[in-house]
Formats: sequence, structure tokens, C-alpha cells
Amino acid sequence: MRPADTVLSNARVYTVDQAQPWARAVAIRGKKIAHVGGERGADASIGPSTRLFDLHGKLVLPGLIDSHVHPKSVALSSWHTKLPWTFDADEQLRYLRDWASRNPDQKVIYAEYYPTAMFGPDDPPTAELIDDYVPDRAVIWQSFSDHAGCLNSKALALMGIDRHTPDPDDSAGFFQRDAAGDPTGYVTENVWWRYADALFGGAGWSPPVELTPQLLDGFLRFLSAKGVTAIWDAMSEVDTLRSVRELDRLGKLTMHYEGAVLFTGVADLAQSIATLRRLQARYGGRHIHLGALKYFLDGTNETGTSAVLQPFANDPTGTNLGTLTMSEDDLLACLLELNREDLDLHIHMVGDRAFRTACNAVERAQRELDRDWRIQVTFAHCELIDPTDMPRAAELGIIINWTPHWSGGYFGLAPMAWLGRERFGRMYQFNPVIDAGAILDCSSDVVSQYEAHRADPFFGMQAGHTRIDPDPDQDMGVREPDSARLRLTDLLRGFTINGAVQLRRSRTMGSIEVGKLANLVVLGRDLFGVAPDEIKNVAPLATMFEGKVVYGSLTVDAESTNANRGRGT
Ligand SMILES: [Zn+2]
Repeated sequence: MRPADTVLSNARVYTVDQAQPWARAVAIRGKKIAHVGGERGADASIGPSTRLFDLHGKLVLPGLIDSHVHPKSVALSSWHTKLPWTFDADEQLRYLRDWASRNPDQKVIYAEYYPTAMFGPDDPPTAELIDDYVPDRAVIWQSFSDHAGCLNSKALALMGIDRHTPDPDDSAGFFQRDAAGDPTGYVTENVWWRYADALFGGAGWSPPVELTPQLLDGFLRFLSAKGVTAIWDAMSEVDTLRSVRELDRLGKLTMHYEGAVLFTGVADLAQSIATLRRLQARYGGRHIHLGALKYFLDGTNETGTSAVLQPFANDPTGTNLGTLTMSEDDLLACLLELNREDLDLHIHMVGDRAFRTACNAVERAQRELDRDWRIQVTFAHCELIDPTDMPRAAELGIIINWTPHWSGGYFGLAPMAWLGRERFGRMYQFNPVIDAGAILDCSSDVVSQYEAHRADPFFGMQAGHTRIDPDPDQDMGVREPDSARLRLTDLLRGFTINGAVQLRRSRTMGSIEVGKLANLVVLGRDLFGVAPDEIKNVAPLATMFEGKVVYGSLTVDAESTNANRGRGT
């Protein structure tokens, strides 16, 4: 047999293969793993041109998989200005003034975020406040709630918003006004977007609306540097696919791309399936594939739009159970149709009523189809699950997709107002689901440049393992209960083999096994040895995709290895 191209030896290889969890060496031939196990077996594959790397005891993991992420919206928001997190308005606005002078070509500035609690409910920010720092360019200063913000006078002028501008009657949003009726600059529910054309036209600058390979590449490179070798895009669109394919054509795509197409109900399911087929035929390839549809079954706990089994705590009528966007019968019909089409389904759900309804629909579909049941169903988010429903994911073979970086305090106390204290305390509990035998996979679900750093899987692992938000700004202490902390091994499976199952790639990805693709990560520090609050700093030294190093280097400096391990020269 042809000798190996690359041999990694003197390593601690955590394979995520239950038959052989640990190994010392890996041999790679072409795109695939030719050997994993002891040093001697790897030595046997060495030929004259084999590249040898002594990893000096470094930990090697399978390439990581982010199984629910939004690369397009992250890339398109890269023009936003990220402000330092502080409750001092002057500090934020001074930063903004400096940023503006360093970026003279940025004719419209979208600054995110000021903490919602920076201003009292009756004393919101005003245009004048921003004008004192940046008077000559349009500024939108957005609240962290994302449901409000403040425009400066230049932005108001370019948009033509004055005392004659009506408030919309099809939205809860409004322009705040002073006693004379003039807009103060403060605006809710982003209704200023209706004047965005005038703003960008007047400023002579427009934000990118279409994804380009260059814009996408920035985010993908970040993911590569964090060990990611496959992503699942929760909303595939033509410009994303075109960009991914172009990067692939140039040999610059450093990960596998799996995508999904959104549908909004029974009525547009057939149409969406046709779209998926067309996109797959046009853009699909060895590294690019679309095999699932995505559906939103409810909203969010922060805004009281999740579907819950008991009325929201803050509802005086005691009847508000939130919003379920599809009935159990309709969901059953969708499942049967998708099963016929051999396509998978990924469902956004947050509340316990959404979870139960979807479980019921899957159960009925399985009973009806019996042996013909082929579809793979993933429930994403599942922030609140009734305890009696927790074993059902395992019973029904449903994959649970969780975003572990939310496990601390990322959404603050906003859900508590709606759910009340008792339900708030039951959120984000997945150990009973895992212990019952369900597959839990892990994702970042990041949607903007602002939070893109949280797509680092090690950031997510730390948050999931500690239940403390790793961002000092968002740290609210340990989120109770302690029993809900996820085991590191479960998080690792979530970011590797279980993600591969959702992507239907577990035969070629997700663990380090002979015959699988050589997607690997070499870590700078021992993930299993560091303190829990150091997990986020366990940065890869190298990421390998299909046998090629796509980030960093495999040349490990012996001096930099753990001193207590001795010098392996
Ligand atoms: Zn999402």
C-alpha cells in the first residue's frame, strides 16, 4: 500500500470512537485516516516522503462541527461598530467618536450596543447626546434589546424624519417626540428601517446586502482557527451558496458546508422542497450539500412568543400560551411529505408546548409509516422541556440541537418576566435528555459579527460545562441548577460525532477512525486538564481538513509543551 502522507506521533488522540477512545498516533493518506492507534502501527505506514510530526503529547480531537449557524448574517453585519460593554454612556460615545475618526469612509455608523439598562424607561437617549460626539455623520446607536435605538440629528435629517412623520400603524414601534412634537431620536422596533433607502441614498453609502466570497471568508477563517471543519447553515440562500462554491472552486473552502432551506407552513412546503432540489442541483458538490428543511414552530422566551404549556406569568388574563405557528396535524402532514421526499427536518422550538406538539407529531408519523420512517428530525433550542417529555427525544430518535454558549446568562433575566421564577429555573436542562439516550449536538447559532466570537466551540463548551457566561459583560454567576452543567465528554460528542449524525456524515466525519476523512484539531492545551474557566482559551495550534492543514501548523515546539510532562525531544 502507498505510504502515508502525514504521520502524527507522540500525541494524545481523543478519537470520540467508543471502540478505541484514546490513541497515540494517526497516519493520514490523501484525504483520509489510514491508521489510528499505537506508534508502531503508524511507523509501518511511513515511507521516504512521509511528513512526520512529533506532537509532544498535545491533545488531538476530531474536527469540530457547528450544527446550526448563520454565516450570511454574521458576514453581512461586519460593517457594524462594536462598542465596549459599559454602563457609562460617555465612555461608549467617546469610543464611537474615536472609531468614526479612524474610519472616515464609513458614512453611516451602526453602533451596537448600549446596555438597555443604561437609560431609565422614562429617560431614553436622544439625538443631541450622540451629536455631542459625532455630529457630521449618520449614527444609529442600538440598544442591546435590539428592539430600540437612537438616531443622531444627521441620521434624522437624511431620513427626512421630522414632526410631520407619522408613526406606523402596523407596528408597535414609534418615534419618541418632545413636547413640541419633534422626534427626539429615540425609536423603537427599528421602524427607522422604513427610511433606510433615504438614509443610505443621502449618505452616498450602502451596506452590503449580498454575500460575497470575501465577506464569507472572514467568518469561515475564524471558524477554522477555532477547529471547525463542518457547518450546518440554518438558512441557505443563493448568495451564500454561490460564495461557498466560489471559495471551494478556488481551493479556499476549509470546511464542509451543509445547508437547509426555510419553509413557513404547509402551503409553501412543496415550493420550498423544489427550491432545495434546484439549489442542490446547481450548487451541490463534494463539500456542499443541502438535505434538510427548516421551520420555526414558535418564537422566543425573551419576547413572550414561545409556545408554553402554562400561561405566561405576566399575563393578567391567565390565558396567554404564546404562539404555536403550526398545528400538530399540519406538522404531521409535513413530516409525511418530507419522509416521502427523503429530506430531513430541523425545527426551531423554544417553549415546552412546542416541544410536546412536535413530539406528538413525530410519534404519530412513525406509527403511520412504521418501517418506512426514514426522516431525521432535529429539534433546535428546546429551552424549556416539560420533565415528562424529556425521555421522548430518545424514544422517538429525535436529535436535540443545543447552543451551549447560551447556558450562562446570555439572555439575561428577560425570559423570567414571561415564564416566572419556577420555569426560568427549569430552562436549559439537557442531562436528563442525554441520560435517557437521546443524541444532543452542539451549535453556536450566532447571527451577527457582534457575537461571532461566541461561535468558538471552546467558548461554548466552557459555558455549557460551567453554566457561567464566559464574557465578563454577561457574567451573572452560575446559572442554577448545578445539576444542569453538561459533562465535557457530552459537549465534545455534541461538537463532533453527534453533529455528524445530524449532517448525515457520521460515516465520514465526527470521529478519528480509519477510513474517515482526516479532519482533526491539535490543541495548544489539554482540554481535560485545564480549569473550567480556562476551556475557552484552549485554542487550536492546527486545524486539518481532509488531510490538509487549513489553520496553524503541526510543528509543535517541544519547549511550549506542559513542563511537567518532561522534555520530549
Ligand atoms: Zn438559528
